[in-house]
Amino acid sequence: MKTFTEPKKLQKWCAAKRMEGRKIALVPTMGYLHEGHLSLIEAARKKGADEIVVSVFVNPVQFGPNEDYDKYPRDEKADLAKCRKAGATAIFFPTPQNMYLDAHSVYVNEETLSAGLCGARRPGHFRGVCTVVAKLFNLAHPHFAVFGQKDFQQETIIRRMVRDLNFDLEIVVAPIVREPSGLARSSRNTYLSADEKSRARALSQSLFAAQADVKAKKTVPWKAYQAKIVKKLEAAGLKVDYVEAVDGETLEPVKRLEKGVAILLAVYCGKTRLIDNAVM
Ligand code: AMP
Repeated sequence: MKTFTEPKKLQKWCAAKRMEGRKIALVPTMGYLHEGHLSLIEAARKKGADEIVVSVFVNPVQFGPNEDYDKYPRDEKADLAKCRKAGATAIFFPTPQNMYLDAHSVYVNEETLSAGLCGARRPGHFRGVCTVVAKLFNLAHPHFAVFGQKDFQQETIIRRMVRDLNFDLEIVVAPIVREPSGLARSSRNTYLSADEKSRARALSQSLFAAQADVKAKKTVPWKAYQAKIVKKLEAAGLKVDYVEAVDGETLEPVKRLEKGVAILLAVYCGKTRLIDNAVM
């Protein structure tokens, strides 16, 4: 497995591989890899990638001033070992300095899908995400890039960016990998105490219950149902940031839960902000 820290060197290597006819997959991550990330590598392999490039970069531009950039967990050595074992062929560990040169002044801004949900609560977050992902696309020029459904709004925005800016690649979305308790795997789960982890089960439980209700009743009015979910989350000691039902493509709010609608939620569990979602 090749290791790169220099953007230009990664770019050169990927270009040479592309010239040789190798099919290149990119898996962008912030590291502290877990089974969710590894499932993206597996999805890349299943889709027939010859080269799987995993980027590990805690992107400062997507963190707000009061967010957890400094304390975000990092473990390069473990990430290397996990990538190697999972079958990645290259790993990219850039530094903030070599990704954002002095006086960096160009950013990518998606203007519609980013307005609500996490975008409304984390100003500038998706501008940071789109900018770094656009840079990674230009560096690796992959045939496809794999993202997780875990970050539903992010994946929707990236697909829009690829469409609207004519990036020459395909986006592959992999399902959410969960702990046996149902909790969606996340690098941030490491912040949770045992008690908090137990309380956080209410997230996935609420989503699974909604899926079962939609399956049984076909369509369910959202407002009253939303109140029910909020109550359940609060009863578990979680502080609700938002619970929304949106069209799975446009992220527009909907009035009824039915097939194809996504429920997206964000809560604070102690000091840790957790997100989760499910498509009905
Ligand atoms: P992160 O390192 O949290 O920025 O995530 C990098 C990529 O891994 C994103 O595309 C995420 O959606 C995806 N990912 C994170 N957690 C999971 C999970 N539990 N299941 C599937 N994909 C995930």
